[in-house]
Amino acid sequence: MDVAVIGVGHVGLVTAACLADLGHRVVGLDDDAAKIETLLTGGVPFHEPDLPQLVQEVTDSGALRFTTDLGEALADAEVVFVCVGTPPLPGGGPDLRFVERVGVEVASKVDHELVLVEKSTVPANTGRRLTHVIRREQQARGTQVTNVHVASNPEFLREGAAVHDTLNPDRIVYGTSSDFARDALRRVYAPLVERTGAPVVETDVNTAELIKHASNAFLATRISFINAVANVCDRVGADVEVVAQGMGMDARIGPAFLSAGLGYGGSCFPKDVDAFLHLSRQVGYDFRLLEEVGRINVGQREVVLDKLRDELWHLAGKTITVFGGAFKPGTDDLRESPGLHLARALIDEGATVRVYDPVASDGVRRELPDVAVFTDPLEASTGAHAVVVATDWPEVVDLDLGKLVAALDYPILVDGRNCLDPEAARAAGLRYHAIGRGHLE
Ligand code: NAD
Repeated sequence: MDVAVIGVGHVGLVTAACLADLGHRVVGLDDDAAKIETLLTGGVPFHEPDLPQLVQEVTDSGALRFTTDLGEALADAEVVFVCVGTPPLPGGGPDLRFVERVGVEVASKVDHELVLVEKSTVPANTGRRLTHVIRREQQARGTQVTNVHVASNPEFLREGAAVHDTLNPDRIVYGTSSDFARDALRRVYAPLVERTGAPVVETDVNTAELIKHASNAFLATRISFINAVANVCDRVGADVEVVAQGMGMDARIGPAFLSAGLGYGGSCFPKDVDAFLHLSRQVGYDFRLLEEVGRINVGQREVVLDKLRDELWHLAGKTITVFGGAFKPGTDDLRESPGLHLARALIDEGATVRVYDPVASDGVRRELPDVAVFTDPLEASTGAHAVVVATDWPEVVDLDLGKLVAALDYPILVDGRNCLDPEAARAAGLRYHAIGRGHLE
């Protein structure tokens, strides 16, 4: 099929490359000319495992090409995926102006029947609004009124495993309001369903939009739940890692997303929890559980700061190294990064902060211009008074702890990801503190 992808960021580029890999002819479009220039010259504008190779393969074969010209992208498209950002607004709702703009632009250029698919994460009712915008725009401009079928096909990929997740989905969800749209999406995903046997949820547009928000809000709830349990564990001397293991063995619970630590970050969970809460309020439901999920998450930074204060007393004047700027391993994405939030809180308290990150150092320098940024963890730790693990990069998990102790002025480490072995850390000479694994001596 001929497919266009509007917005070739973290989701759009992976979607475009994977759809090309599945046998479709794909055009990727972005209004960021520099991004398209990078892609046209063989680069990939962000760190994502397996993506550069896949993009190279499908562009070499001619299955994927890039443009900044919407007319060109739409010319033959049967299905158009909208993958633009929906960043948070100060009031908690998502900023849907980019989605609206795409609707207006598509309405002004399209000259044939097609399906416009929301892949961006949007609240329920967005499909309805988008349909309205397109109709209004076509009537106002006096352009040919063509049938643009708005559909929802939420994305569940994880950054750091995005290509794998897209080609091996747990499920495919799409919501449509016409046979035309449903049949088109069936044909888009037929090769993937054949390849993987992935189950498909076919539903209406509002339900599909809501599945995405409910899924992310539920995953965030699991993380905040185990973090609250960890805070009780710290107070009674229990080990949250074993508690989570014991809970996860129950088939009704399962082991995923029960990792206690510094809390979730990234471009999705914080924003989507807030957006779902915002939508619920707008429609007259007080979803207080989600408020608490967000509050617990932010509170985890204070848990780490308290452990540092217990060890160092005043943080002002101390040098503290944060291991991890990226919000999780496998990506250089810094959006809502717990490590950066922590670094800022430490700076506010008067500490001198250093950040180590193996792939996101350039971005960290841009975000925190006054902070020393390192790509070597031992160099980042030399002469520091304490280290905090904010991202469980393999380079941190496999670090020679003896060398770390030798590098530090005080051998203090707060493991905000519970990713090191407490016994090995203590045997190496560290004063080691985890989240929910017993209290300070
Ligand atoms: P991103 O910022 O990486 O990419 C968005 C892209 O859209 C950018 O390249 C931007 O230049 C482009 N863009 C914006 N307006 C445009 C326009 N009018 N025309 C053409 N291009 C335009 O964002 P992302 O992380 O890919 O997220 C996109 C959406 O997918 C969001 O709604 C997000 O919530 C959702 N999502 C993200 C993830 C993830 O892990 N990042 C996972 C699932 C869903």
